[in-house]
Order: sequence, then structure tokens, then C-alpha cells
Amino acid sequence: MRLLNKVAIITGGASGIGKETARLFAQNGAKLVIADYNEEAGQAALEELHALGAEAEFVRADVSNREDVQNLINTAKSKFGAIDILVNNAGITRDGWLVKMDPAQWDQVISINLTGVFNCTQSAASVMMEQGSGVILNAASVVGLYGNIGQTNYAAAKAGVIGMTKSWAKELGPKGIRVNAVAPGFIMTGMTDKMPEKVLGMMEEKTPLRRLGQPDDIAKAYLFLASDDASFVNGAVLSVDGGLTL
Ligand code: NAD
Repeated sequence: MRLLNKVAIITGGASGIGKETARLFAQNGAKLVIADYNEEAGQAALEELHALGAEAEFVRADVSNREDVQNLINTAKSKFGAIDILVNNAGITRDGWLVKMDPAQWDQVISINLTGVFNCTQSAASVMMEQGSGVILNAASVVGLYGNIGQTNYAAAKAGVIGMTKSWAKELGPKGIRVNAVAPGFIMTGMTDKMPEKVLGMMEEKTPLRRLGQPDDIAKAYLFLASDDASFVNGAVLSVDGGLTL
């Protein structure tokens, strides 16, 4: 019960890492608002949370749309009276070689993975500043730290998320708000599990712990950072990658 009665918003909470984080937070006593642009998956995830006995809401929201985001924040505030934790988890990939990358691929990834994080944080931070407390957790990636072939757009967005995390840790820290990021390595979710067996085997071989990451590996890192156990952790970027990037 490390998050007893804390109100947490998790974007992209309908699947993968976000869904697992919502489940773990609920098991630790949090009240949840999961936001996703996939209505059907969001409703299904909500039913699973209710089955666990959690107090939870689903809000359909596209994080790149400022009106959707303001509605999300307003709904969370009016339903639960506070916003203690925001997990900026929603994200996509649209990979391609630099010279072949369509401008739309660039725009989509930047608007969701970078501007989406800005939109949600800007709206939630006003509420947290009034409260004088809050925790903001951002989904970065080891790609944002080290780059990756075919992921110019994704690397730029995730590096930007790291820059925003550090800036907000400085700006919001004095207001009682901690801001940290998690940089996952290769985690088995809908984002990665369609990769050929050969690539998955290669990733496993390159990882010193000799296994691929699972959504709960990241959810547990978010739980630590969201909890009071991390009360002096601010502006950190925690790599959770089994040592892949060493
Ligand atoms: P996923 O595809 O399983 O889940 C992402 C969720 O975000 C989906 O439910 C999707 O509908 C939602 N989403 C996408 N765009 C949205 C938008 N505009 N508005 C609202 N919801 C939106 O992916 P995942 O692997 O669980 O990824 C979660 C986060 O972790 C992402 O930010 C991703 O970049 C990051 N990450 C993942 C990995 C990995 O290996 N899986 C590695 C590093 C970082």
C-alpha cells in the first residue's frame, strides 16, 4: 500500500507498460485515471481495474490534443479532488531511415511523445502547484540517451523528454513537485513483440541479464519513483534495461 489514496493519472494506460503500471498502482492503494486514445482497450483495462476493487476512471484522450488533455485533468480533479501522480507514458513509434522518413512520421512522433508530455504536465502542474505537492514521471527511453538507427523522430522526442524532466525538476522542485524519468530498454509490449524472433533473440543475447524486459519491470520502477521511498529523488533518469546499454 505504498500509494494509499494517492490519485494517479496514467496516459497510455490501456495497454503495455501503462496498463501494468495502473494495475500495480491500484494494488498499492492508488485511485486511478487511465487515459488513452484507444477507447475500446481503455474500457477493457478499466474493467480489469474494477475487478481488482480499484477506484478508477477511464478518460478517452489524445495527449497531443490540448482540449482532450484539459478535459482529462479537469475530470481527474473533479472526480477525485486532487492529482498526486502523473505518469506521462503514452507513446508511439513510426520508424524509418532518415532519408526516407516522411514528414508526417516526424510530426506524429513529436506531437505525441514530446508535445503530449508537455501538454499533460503543463495542465497537471497547475493543479499540483496549488496543492503544493505532486509527482511527475515521464517515459523516456534508452534511445533518447544513446540514439538508434531508424529512430530519428523517436530519439529526438525521448531526448526532449529527458531535457524537460530535468528542467521541470528544477522549476517545480521548489513547489513540492518531484519530476523523474524512466528510460526503458527493450520491453515486450505491443510496441515490440511483432519483431522477428531473430531480433528478439539478438536483444536477449546483448542484454547482460539475458532476458527481455517485461512491463512489470518498468511498472516497479514507476512505483518506486512515485512513492515516498523516492522522496529525495528529483531530476533522475533511471535506466531499466537489464544492462543492455552498458
Ligand atoms: P504500447 O503500444 O503497448 O502502449 C502505448 C499506449 O499508449 C497504447 O495504449 C496507446 O493506445 C497509447 N497511446 C498512443 N498514443 C496516444 C495518444 N496520442 N494519446 C493517448 N494515448 C496514446 O507501448 P509500451 O511499450 O507500453 O510503451 C509505453 C511507453 O514506454 C511509451 O512512451 C514508449 O515510448 C516507452 N518505451 C517503451 C519501450 C519498449 O520497449 N516497449 C522502450 C522504451 C520506452
